Amino acid sequence: MEPEQLGAEIQRLQLCINDLVGILALPATWVRGEPQTIVQSLLDSLMRMVDLDLVYLRMTDPVGDAPCELVRFDRSGRDGPRPQEVGRLLAPWLDADPQAWPARLAVGGTDLAILPQRLGLHGEIGLLVAGATRKGFPRETERLLVSVMANQATVGLQGARHLSEQKRVAEELDRRVAQRTAELAAANSELRRQMAERRQAEEALAANERNLDQTINSIPGLVWSTRTDGTAEFFNQHYLDYVGRPSDAMQGWGWIAAVHPNDLPGLMDAWQSIRAQGCTGEAEARLRRVDGTYRRFLLRVNPFHDEGGAVVRWFGINTDIEDWKEAQDELRDTQAELARVTRVMTMGQLTASIAHEINQPLSGIMTNASTCLRMLATDPPNVAGALETARRTIRDGKRASDVIARLRELFGKRGTAAEAVDLNRATEEVIALTSTEIQRCGVSLRMELAGDLPPVTGDRVQLQQVILNLILNATEAMRDVDERLRELRIATGRMEAGGVGLTVTDSGVGFDPATVETLFNPFYTTKSDGMGIGLSVSRSIVQNHQGRLWAEPNEGAGATFRLSLPAGHP
Ligand code: ADP
Repeated sequence: MEPEQLGAEIQRLQLCINDLVGILALPATWVRGEPQTIVQSLLDSLMRMVDLDLVYLRMTDPVGDAPCELVRFDRSGRDGPRPQEVGRLLAPWLDADPQAWPARLAVGGTDLAILPQRLGLHGEIGLLVAGATRKGFPRETERLLVSVMANQATVGLQGARHLSEQKRVAEELDRRVAQRTAELAAANSELRRQMAERRQAEEALAANERNLDQTINSIPGLVWSTRTDGTAEFFNQHYLDYVGRPSDAMQGWGWIAAVHPNDLPGLMDAWQSIRAQGCTGEAEARLRRVDGTYRRFLLRVNPFHDEGGAVVRWFGINTDIEDWKEAQDELRDTQAELARVTRVMTMGQLTASIAHEINQPLSGIMTNASTCLRMLATDPPNVAGALETARRTIRDGKRASDVIARLRELFGKRGTAAEAVDLNRATEEVIALTSTEIQRCGVSLRMELAGDLPPVTGDRVQLQQVILNLILNATEAMRDVDERLRELRIATGRMEAGGVGLTVTDSGVGFDPATVETLFNPFYTTKSDGMGIGLSVSRSIVQNHQGRLWAEPNEGAGATFRLSLPAGHP
């Protein structure tokens, strides 16, 4: 080789090395990896470095927004064929090996020597075709440059593809993350909403429960519930406060510990039969209060059914009826008292009507007796008239004794009750009835009732009738006494021979000791309005009770009437 040729070759190789360095430096400008920039800078560099008239680049799988085909034609800038046209022209060889390509082709009316170069080992990235009109194209150095350029393009585009794939994956990841975040946020807010709602529901439930608790605890009764087997499961606060036991101790059958032992068998029977019948029921029992006292309760229970009508629970309420029961007992006592007073009053009325009936024959006796006396006093005595009036006197006397017989019969028939009578109590009751009369007469009353008096057996009302009679007689005997204290002393006590006695002592007018037995005769009276039957009836009542009634004059003023009855009650 000539030295000039050698010099030119060295210069060309020098240029080629420069170009190669330039090509190798290209990737540094592709840092952002945009395929558009990569391919454009490649094509421009190639056109500039190698004296080409055509560069065509085709990408099998373009990345991002890069075009599928690009073309640079004629350095002079003249309009050349569009990339698609070149693509159509090269179509027959696109899949062929570069070795099989024709050496020359007419592109855009220009005959060109062409150099195809695959991008990627098997052209999977695409194809680069360089073309030049000049002779001798491609020289070795130009082949080298195009081949290196194609390699660079392959590496660049693969990098871009990876980058783009990474970006796509990153974007997809971002999108999914964003989507998932949005879903989570939505789920979170839904969860928060549900937790709000749930809290509201819980608060409403708690408020309802508080309300129910308050309602149940404000019910004025002991409220409870049991299972179907009769074992308890709930007690309201009133109940627990009343029995003074914790709820745990009352559960199951624990509640029966508060029931009075004598009431328990009856209550258990009632509870058993209510549950067997499955309907509303009630029972009475005494329940022990925390202080140990028992109070009477009315237990009412109702079944609670499920939708199918089966009993699933029992609800009950125990109402304290102790006060009501006591009031009822008092009412019963009052009614008995009323009945007794009514009988006493009836007795008074009866006495008045007897007096009326007896007064008639008595006044007849008086009239006839005085007529008889007058007839006998005449001279000569009117014996026939006297006999007649005497007969009438006997007739009236008989009528009077008939009345008494009827009266005795009445007391006899009435039958005597045989109850245990507390003489103290009976006396106090009579005093309560007569206290107004006693006070009205200005009498001071002294009571000396024995503390340990045994009961007597008899008819309380009849015995009270006797006591009433003695008290009223004593009060009347003191009515006209002004010179001394009007004092009434009523005493009870044990008598000799195991009897029980009552003594009524007054400071009244008293009586003549010689007449002491006369006082008990029927119709003996020293009073203008008297009937003289009180003591007579009283004695027959006392005798019916196997007792004794007698009178004694006092050492000082006044009289003492004594009553003795056998003690004891079978
Ligand atoms: P009455 O009271 O209607 O007269 P009683 O049979 O009760 O009938 O009494 C008969 C009589 O006995 C009385 O009228 C009275 O003379 C006498 N008597 C009864 N109690 C007393 C007394 N406490 N003190 C004095 N005399 C009495």
